[in-house]
Amino acid sequence: MADIVPPETRSRMMSSIRGRDTKPEILVRKILRDLHVGYRLHVKDLPGRPDIVMRGRRRVIEVQGCFWHRHPNCRFAYTPKSRTEFWQRKFDSNVARDARNHQALRDGGWQVLTIWECETANDKLLRERIARFLGMGETGGTDQEDGGHPGEAG
Ligand SMILES: [Zn+2]
Repeated sequence: MADIVPPETRSRMMSSIRGRDTKPEILVRKILRDLHVGYRLHVKDLPGRPDIVMRGRRRVIEVQGCFWHRHPNCRFAYTPKSRTEFWQRKFDSNVARDARNHQALRDGGWQVLTIWECETANDKLLRERIARFLGMGETGGTDQEDGGHPGEAG
């Protein structure tokens, strides 16, 4: 794929292609450490080798790059202007694989939280979301789970 995109774009894309030690993932890991939550990375014996696995809590966090994994309605999920068919096939297969893996995890009794790369920009919101996912109400007000908030559609 040497001549498709400028080098700096390519290296940015490559850094997120395998999702290993990307900046967004490191941010999520830091929050988990702050919450004193133990986790393991890229667990091979689970479908799709999920990024972050909390076995005891039966929870998985996937940190997904907006470009490669096609964050819906996200400006980072653009399609390159040349070789669009090639890219579309690639994207389709990524999305299908993600859906398959996440379904397999849920079927196995895991809860899956998908965090998109662009969603890691707001540290406070990210912390709240992760704490809520882990049932840890970080804001300290209430420790009740509220069932289905109308503001959370999508
Ligand atoms: Zn996004």
